[in-house]
Amino acid sequence: MLSYRHAFHAGNHADVLKHLVQIQLLNYLNQKDTAYMYIDTHSGAGVYALDSNYASKNAEYESGIARLWERTDLPSAVADYVDLIKSLNPSGKMRYYPGSPYCAEHILREQDRLRFFELHPADSKLLADNFRKLEAHAAEQGKRPATRGKRVMIERANGFQGLKALLPPPSRRGIVLIDPPYEDKSDYRSVVDTVTDGLQRFASGVYAVWYPALNRMESRQMPDKLKKIPSNGWLNVTLTVSTPSPDGFGLHSSGMFIHNPPWTLEPVLREVMPYLVSVLGQDSGATFVIETGKADGVAGKQKRK
Ligand code: SAM
Repeated sequence: MLSYRHAFHAGNHADVLKHLVQIQLLNYLNQKDTAYMYIDTHSGAGVYALDSNYASKNAEYESGIARLWERTDLPSAVADYVDLIKSLNPSGKMRYYPGSPYCAEHILREQDRLRFFELHPADSKLLADNFRKLEAHAAEQGKRPATRGKRVMIERANGFQGLKALLPPPSRRGIVLIDPPYEDKSDYRSVVDTVTDGLQRFASGVYAVWYPALNRMESRQMPDKLKKIPSNGWLNVTLTVSTPSPDGFGLHSSGMFIHNPPWTLEPVLREVMPYLVSVLGQDSGATFVIETGKADGVAGKQKRK
């Protein structure tokens, strides 16, 4: 079932949380010169036009990135995120929103590797087209050679399956973003199985999972299942922008669950999350949670704002 198109949701509050965390994780990996591999199991189209029929249908970006665009009081991690999006919009007008592949391409270095999986035929083609343009542009600017070579690989394939063959990466440094649509509830189970398998193949990898924090049982249980997988530790952050509607429709809350997070992530989120709640919050139900812990019985900490 491939009805999901991320273009409808590009730039919403959930993308803000996801891409802000993604950028922090990649910036941390960039602190060492040693090459690493970025793997996106569910890549989407890579870049979205906010004036397209898709994105403008519900204009979800208006309650996400649009609320940050003109702010002059951004904490530095939020500024890193907004600056990256502004770099895709040199005119200053908010026209394009980058997906996770673009954010990664922007931050990774010449020596690093990018591996993208996208199953939807239209989105995998768009992703490949977008990358061809990006690489041509980078070459024009002398940033890096025009050949895609080994640096970027895009596969129209099931990312849950495709990941296995890439772990561990040759450089033994790597990060995996797992961001399925969850329209099919089997995605919840596949995420837990994939992270379990990934950590067995490549124990020191960073695994970042985006998820909708909904009332449905699978959604409530998934973070608890992820917490039980042995690793060097985990961090779970959720951003809730409003009280859930009585009919249960709409996405009011989402989370990022990270296994093997860098130590720098928690302090950054402690600074940033209250700000995001204040700017993206829509009613008195807006809040955040940051939890950390380890699966081997070491108690996790949970702190609310
Ligand atoms: N990570 C993207 C971003 O942040 O810009 C958004 C990804 S979107 C939430 C999920 C994508 O997964 C959709 O484009 C969908 O077509 C794709 N997809 C669904 N099932 C898949 C699978 N098993 N393997 C790879 N891609 C899949």
